Amino acid sequence: MAKEALKEEAKDVSSAREVESDTFKCPGCGNFLKYDPETGKLRCDYCGGTRDVPTPKPPMEIYYTSLSEQGVSSWGEVKCIQCPVCGAKTMLEKYQTVTVCPFCGAPNVVESDEVPGLKPNAVLPFLVSEPKAHESLKKWMGKKFLAPTDLKKTAKTSKMNGVYVPSWTFDSNVYATYDARLGKTYTVTVGSGKNRRTETRVRWYNVSGSINSYFDDVLINASSRMTQKQLTKIGGFDTKNSIQYEEEYLSGYSAERYAQGLDASWEVAKEYMVDSVRSQVRNRYPDADRVDYIHVYPVFNETKYKYVLGPIWTSSYRYKGKDYGFVVNGRNGRTAGKAPLSPIKTFFFSLFCAGVAGLLIWMIYILFFS
Ligand SMILES: [Zn+2]
Ligand SMILES: [Zn+2]
Repeated sequence: MAKEALKEEAKDVSSAREVESDTFKCPGCGNFLKYDPETGKLRCDYCGGTRDVPTPKPPMEIYYTSLSEQGVSSWGEVKCIQCPVCGAKTMLEKYQTVTVCPFCGAPNVVESDEVPGLKPNAVLPFLVSEPKAHESLKKWMGKKFLAPTDLKKTAKTSKMNGVYVPSWTFDSNVYATYDARLGKTYTVTVGSGKNRRTETRVRWYNVSGSINSYFDDVLINASSRMTQKQLTKIGGFDTKNSIQYEEEYLSGYSAERYAQGLDASWEVAKEYMVDSVRSQVRNRYPDADRVDYIHVYPVFNETKYKYVLGPIWTSSYRYKGKDYGFVVNGRNGRTAGKAPLSPIKTFFFSLFCAGVAGLLIWMIYILFFS
């Protein structure tokens, strides 16, 4: 009896899911709809049919506990694929297929046994469309100072891939007690006659106290395909504007599975917070000009997290037989990547630098030694 009931329930769930994925089909022609950054709707590439996405809601921040990561909730029907070349793990809805890795373009991606892991609870939908991302890329190429002049015209860009990359945000109310040994320097005159001289000495003293500090949306990159440096270069993500995760925003895109889990990311966030508290302690004693140590004993209260997906356009472009990777921020269009160096420009630039250095040395010589 109980078994029967379970079966019934399973049936219900599967039919509910089918209905759900049907919502991504075009009402006009039955093709799959894609999330369109220009209109903020699901749109059909073939007939132009559209469908609204759910009204955006603010994302729920979830209380973090040491058990959070084990509470792996189901994403629904998602599968995890892995690239044999760059190792990127990409999450796809069951109806999505990819033939090449969205990050490096390598073929032969394989389905991985990895569980999808935690489900995102926040998303920053694409604001920049693929044509706009191309424009940003061209502009960026034009600004590359040492790149060949024909780069913008001759570089061949392959199709861009819209990918959501994972990051975590943490909020925490940190109460910390501290003790520290600080010092103040002073000078004394010692000796007499020819031996009379000033010496610098340090008066050491101990301080202790407590500090309260609230942290909001500390952003930790969880992608293996994008470094924190690249994320900074493209201006980070405006996580304050993130909205509750809905499958619709992923329609037509893929999402990278987090490479750095929740617990490991919380450790990184804690380190950041403790460093920040330590410098707040330091700033309480502006008179001190030496620090022996500052010990901080933090308690983290009301810690909450969000698992946010942020949008990027990524691909590579070909110039004179070589490929150069790049990423474009899907929120603000800022671009980062590798660019070829023009041998002629680099030669003259080095010559110019050498010239400036030479001129400086000559001026120093004239000013101080002649
Ligand atoms: Zn259609
Ligand atoms: Zn790859």
